[in-house]
Amino acid sequence: VAAQKVSLFENDPSLWSLPWPEPDAHKNERGHVIVASGGRARTGAARLSARAALRGGAGLVTVLSPPDALDENAAQLTAIMVREARDEAAYAQAARIARALVIGPAFGTSDDHYKLLLAAIGAEPRAPLVLDADALTLLSPITHGFTSRDVLTPHVGEFRRAFPGIWSSSSNRIDATRAAAAYARCVVLLKGPDTVIAAPDGRAIVNTTGSPFLATAGSGDVLAGLIAALISQGMESFEAAAVAVWLHGKAGERLGPGLIAEDVTEILPAILNDLA
Ligand code: AMP
Ligand code: MG
Repeated sequence: VAAQKVSLFENDPSLWSLPWPEPDAHKNERGHVIVASGGRARTGAARLSARAALRGGAGLVTVLSPPDALDENAAQLTAIMVREARDEAAYAQAARIARALVIGPAFGTSDDHYKLLLAAIGAEPRAPLVLDADALTLLSPITHGFTSRDVLTPHVGEFRRAFPGIWSSSSNRIDATRAAAAYARCVVLLKGPDTVIAAPDGRAIVNTTGSPFLATAGSGDVLAGLIAALISQGMESFEAAAVAVWLHGKAGERLGPGLIAEDVTEILPAILNDLA
């Protein structure tokens, strides 16, 4: 670690360039986020992610749905599109047409899900991936090399399973996250209080916004969608992850007691407007 260049950035969105639309913007140019849904009765997490992606400014958002969950998803969505995905080819195609693809929230952990995930990862060319939750479980321990455009978003439990060797040999969360990013060759977020964001080139950020009220069901799903939204609008993935974590944390601070995951999404306009 000592030999590697360390750049610890301050996480302040006013230092980043937020992807505001040009006056003549068209929705097709504001990024298309696709979120993979789980099967029947496991669809809420993907919709939370998808709605956060829409609030985060993606021009188009699609929930990619297994056939058995298509009606359920369609019945619950308005501005967000639904697309049926029956097989590996559909996941590979989604990876090709999206500007950012979220896989993981309540996705499923069967062998079939593993094949669908690998089809998306192996697509060429493909969109940056935001991999969370079940996708991390399916890949653990991680042996894949990704790219600096991809983002993994483990909480501590997921991190330990994804990177067992790195976890046991690192003395702190920053070193562990930086080592994981270098090893997997992608952006890695270690979620929790003081979320750490690391890039494969050695850059790292410790986020300072947040609230323990963010420790609630669906909170991480919202974050994954928000990261994808910013990537889909052209932000570099490390920056997108850092800004999304900051915004998510600010939402947590504003909301406080009583916070549920949906609120984090719904308060984003107020927080974004303060930055505009
Ligand atoms: P997940 O565990 O996937 O639902 O993600 C939880 C989200 O809430 C992550 O963005 C965490 O950083 C955040 N979070 C969880 N616990 C805390 C905490 N005690 N303080 C601040 N943020 C938290
Ligand atoms: Mg989670």
